Amino acid sequence: MKLSVEGLIAGYAKAQVLFGLSLEVEGGELVALLGANGAGKTTALRTVSGLLRAWGGGVRLDGRNLVGLSAARRARLGLGHVPEGRQLFALMTVEENLLLGAAFLAWKGRAAGLEYVYTLFPRLQERRKQLAGTLSGGEQQMLAIARALMGQPRILMVDEPSLGLSPKLAEEVLQTLSRVRTAGTGVLLVEQNVALSLEVADRGYVVEHGNVVLGGTSAELSGNPLVQKAYLAL
Ligand code: ATP
Repeated sequence: MKLSVEGLIAGYAKAQVLFGLSLEVEGGELVALLGANGAGKTTALRTVSGLLRAWGGGVRLDGRNLVGLSAARRARLGLGHVPEGRQLFALMTVEENLLLGAAFLAWKGRAAGLEYVYTLFPRLQERRKQLAGTLSGGEQQMLAIARALMGQPRILMVDEPSLGLSPKLAEEVLQTLSRVRTAGTGVLLVEQNVALSLEVADRGYVVEHGNVVLGGTSAELSGNPLVQKAYLAL
């Protein structure tokens, strides 16, 4: 499956944030969306997932235009979204949180979803009866990712998963996304930790002022003097 974003324009009230942003993510690849605070990365993910209305441009899954469809409909078509800040239900168990991620599926689909995410995250299976609020920060982030994977999306968008985590846990969470990609799902990762994301990503895009200004393989981006100066502090 392929996600194609073409000339996306969006914003809030009168404040335009995205100025024709374009990118592509294919199944089985991990693509990083990099850029400074306020560049428009979160806005891009929210517009692609349908939480925010596009003012113009296209969002396609395997050629099918999603603009105008609800976020729930897009999720059913294979687009997963892990929002910034995790948004878990702290007083529900790990498994209850996971099941909410597949509430739109029949029981068989939910059972298959649990089997899939417990294979990817054995630690969540061990803690499936524990309240989500009692998990460590890293485990909570993994739960948020696992919940989005319950519907077995073909493309998964993840917003700032390393936020608030120690470097070791951040690395662990990003390694998890690498496994998700290897399992065949395309991953679009928004990260401020540029060095870490280029370690796990296949490719990346740099966003400035609501537009992609640079794209390439992780090796190309890591070797680019502009990226080194602006984002890698080299
Ligand atoms: P960050 O890493 O800070 O999330 P970002 O690249 O994801 O950065 P966005 O969150 O997309 O950037 O924000 C882009 C611009 O939109 C910023 O100028 C921000 O102030 C503005 N913005 C974000 N959310 C809203 C909102 N709900 N209402 C109005 N303006 C917003």
